[in-house]
Amino acid sequence: MFFLLQGFLFTGFSQSGYWQQRVKYVMDVDLNVVNNRLTGKQQLDYTNHSPDTLRKVFYHLFWNAFQPNSMMDNRSRVLGKKMIGDSPDWDPRVKDRIQNLTPEEIGYQKIISLNMNGVAQPFRVEETIMEVNLTKPILPNTTVHFQLEFEAQVPLQIRRSGRDNPVTKVRYSMSQWYPKICEYDYEGWHATPYVAREFYGVWGDFDVNIHIDKSYILGGSGYLQNPQEIGYGYEAAGTKVNRSAGEKLNWHFIAPNVHDFVWAADPEFKHATKKIRSDLTLHLLYKTTNAPEKNWLNILDNAEKILPYIEKTYGPYPYKQYSFIHGGDGGMEYPMATLLADPGAWMHEWMHSWYQGMMATNELKYPWMDEGFTQYAAARNWGYLNKDTSADQTFKGEFGSYFRLAKSNLQEPLTTYADYFNTNAAYGASSYSKGALCMEQLGYIVGQQTLDKILLAYYQEWRFKHPNADDFFRVAEKVSGMQLDWYQDFWIGSIKKIDYGIDSLWEVNGKTRIRLRNLGQVPMPIDLLLQFRDGSKELAYIPLYSMFGTKPEEEKNIPRTVNEPWKWTSPEYEFEISHKLTDLKIIEIDASHRMADVNRSNNKLELKW
Ligand SMILES: [Zn+2]
Repeated sequence: MFFLLQGFLFTGFSQSGYWQQRVKYVMDVDLNVVNNRLTGKQQLDYTNHSPDTLRKVFYHLFWNAFQPNSMMDNRSRVLGKKMIGDSPDWDPRVKDRIQNLTPEEIGYQKIISLNMNGVAQPFRVEETIMEVNLTKPILPNTTVHFQLEFEAQVPLQIRRSGRDNPVTKVRYSMSQWYPKICEYDYEGWHATPYVAREFYGVWGDFDVNIHIDKSYILGGSGYLQNPQEIGYGYEAAGTKVNRSAGEKLNWHFIAPNVHDFVWAADPEFKHATKKIRSDLTLHLLYKTTNAPEKNWLNILDNAEKILPYIEKTYGPYPYKQYSFIHGGDGGMEYPMATLLADPGAWMHEWMHSWYQGMMATNELKYPWMDEGFTQYAAARNWGYLNKDTSADQTFKGEFGSYFRLAKSNLQEPLTTYADYFNTNAAYGASSYSKGALCMEQLGYIVGQQTLDKILLAYYQEWRFKHPNADDFFRVAEKVSGMQLDWYQDFWIGSIKKIDYGIDSLWEVNGKTRIRLRNLGQVPMPIDLLLQFRDGSKELAYIPLYSMFGTKPEEEKNIPRTVNEPWKWTSPEYEFEISHKLTDLKIIEIDASHRMADVNRSNNKLELKW
């Protein structure tokens, strides 16, 4: 999702012997656009690739959160009272709105029946989670067939999904709309109640039939299988559309190898498409209710412009389609599609196709790996489009937000579970900004070229899987040849801050001695740029001992000396350069400004002669 900026702009072990569960959903649903009720049948082939015998399964029933006194309502009202400065901390889209929903406005998902391999299964629903104690266990490496009938009411739009959005006026934002089996991985079941923050799904294939009033136009995750029976811009150009008689159309979508399926519907959607590569077509479904048409259409032009850079930097986009769909609130990512309340969030949401869509991290456990990495990529892409890739410019918002967070007393470690952050402000600044800086600062540590190799190696090794934090850092270690556990421990596992400073300079026998000081609690390698009065420059590089490695030279036109590593237990570091003190003009720690040093005022010294 895209985080609303409100003034505060805003470990375990790596997985060897990796396995993951697999699903195949076939769903047939009917949406009544008068009473907003959905009825459906779901066939689910569930393959247990785990080494464990499963005696129960869990399902998410997300829409049950949109009822008075739900955990989402409760959390929102409890934290809604908290003020950060002059503004309320909590998500302004939720507040006390759930409590005020009428019976016609609430959301629900009711299970009518559930069978496994033809045998009825006992189930128990507790708000947003259904627990099924199976009559027969699911053995390792077997597939079972679940058959489920459900009824649902689309909630009035509160958060992410719903109907009749007050801002966008989009009728249906259909996310989290079907009973969704929870993920089971090396940590066991993730039966996580829906409180506020995000998702984790099983990899698989979706085959979805949606019956809806003929006047509605849909966009969704999958490829439309029957465009000639639908039209609305999906049909092959210049061909005749054959719609069936009757009041409804049946939209048939297939989405292969994804972990969720979203759709949206509105009778006034405009539908534009753009083929931006021989095997990739972008779809845009939008209304002009809250943003002008040109802003929507610009998405397609800019997406075409940036795609080659994206694929070269983060890895190829593997699907034949992506849809930008007006809906939801803010922006929210789904496989092969996004729901955007406003066109401005398109880049961020599209980049989630990499950091969430393909590298499908558990968003509840590692919000910094989907939001932070996405924010990093989106900011970097905008820097590329705007032809200014300096850290100062590209990550201005992220540095500003992180520095404000670091100065506040609100900070919590990035290992905090997304829903457990005490404040929305700290969740946002941590996941998005500190998460983005994790990547940018990694470039400072290992070198920009090495970081670029890490991005592609991470994609190669973990696309279509569920990487965890350790998996990412293992890739970074293997590619860089450096030890990076200390960086993970400090930056992700703690709220300690970086503050290096120039302590003093003096001359001994015609040579200059420089003393640096670590005033913070996070150790880092140091790039010290030396500018001389004759206009020449040199870089004094001080690796961190804990890295057991040396960053490759990044700027070939600036000579670099590699000094003895700095051991983190020493607050001071002293070394010598062959120049006289009076030769020096400026010395600066991290002139690239990629290191998130909370006090940069002591990083630069201009010598006056
Ligand atoms: Zn996001």
